[in-house]
Amino acid sequence: MVKVYIFTDMEGISGITTNAIWDQKSDAYRAGRTLLTKEVNAAVEGALEGGATTVVVNDGHDGHNNIIVEDLHPEAEYETGECSLDETYDAAFLIGYHAMAGTEKAFLDHTQGPRWHNYFLNGIRVGEIGQCAAIAGHYGVPVVLVTGDAAACKEAKELLGDEIETVVVKYALNRFSARSIHPKKARRLIREAAKRALAKAHEIKPFKLKTPIEVKVEWATTDIADSLERREGVRRIDARTIVKIVPTALEILNF
Ligand SMILES: [Zn+2]
Repeated sequence: MVKVYIFTDMEGISGITTNAIWDQKSDAYRAGRTLLTKEVNAAVEGALEGGATTVVVNDGHDGHNNIIVEDLHPEAEYETGECSLDETYDAAFLIGYHAMAGTEKAFLDHTQGPRWHNYFLNGIRVGEIGQCAAIAGHYGVPVVLVTGDAAACKEAKELLGDEIETVVVKYALNRFSARSIHPKKARRLIREAAKRALAKAHEIKPFKLKTPIEVKVEWATTDIADSLERREGVRRIDARTIVKIVPTALEILNF
């Protein structure tokens, strides 16, 4: 049994080059769903070619209803929101990712939503790539493949090590526009990288944080710290910053 877990997002999918995809009523979003589904399928194919016997896809972008399930690779299993990842998995992929909030020349950089300014786990500044890697790391599962724009791939290698596979599918011109490689080329590169990544999965170290974990968030505005400071276990350290100690990486989003 070789099990692969695929976290998906949408901002880092090839062919998506406008922030209009954040409006789910837009034509760009509708077209983006097809691009997302086909790019995820490329990763599934690569995993299967690399020997995977189980591939689970988590639909992670806003609303968790983005992948066109009917068109998802028939060998993949699909889930949303809750995550069935556990220690029986061999590897995790992050497909369609974006850089953390505050990254220069990064397409649609953000962390969770517009209110997160800076986010640290045990003092390490992270975004959603680090967050997913920490959750996978809790189960001893390494993230072995990350795809997205150049900034997301750079962030992934800096955090997780040079030996992981990344596929750069586009280059940000500014936060709201990008130059993308052709989706068909991106899919070929992702399929090949997925296969390579799985072959070396046992050599790649999981991103395992020392527990308990210190979660620190600097919010964009002080009202969020105002509303959180009375919650149990939360300590406010300055106008916009709160700290909470959580037992494991599975609680890093619990405030
Ligand atoms: Zn997203």
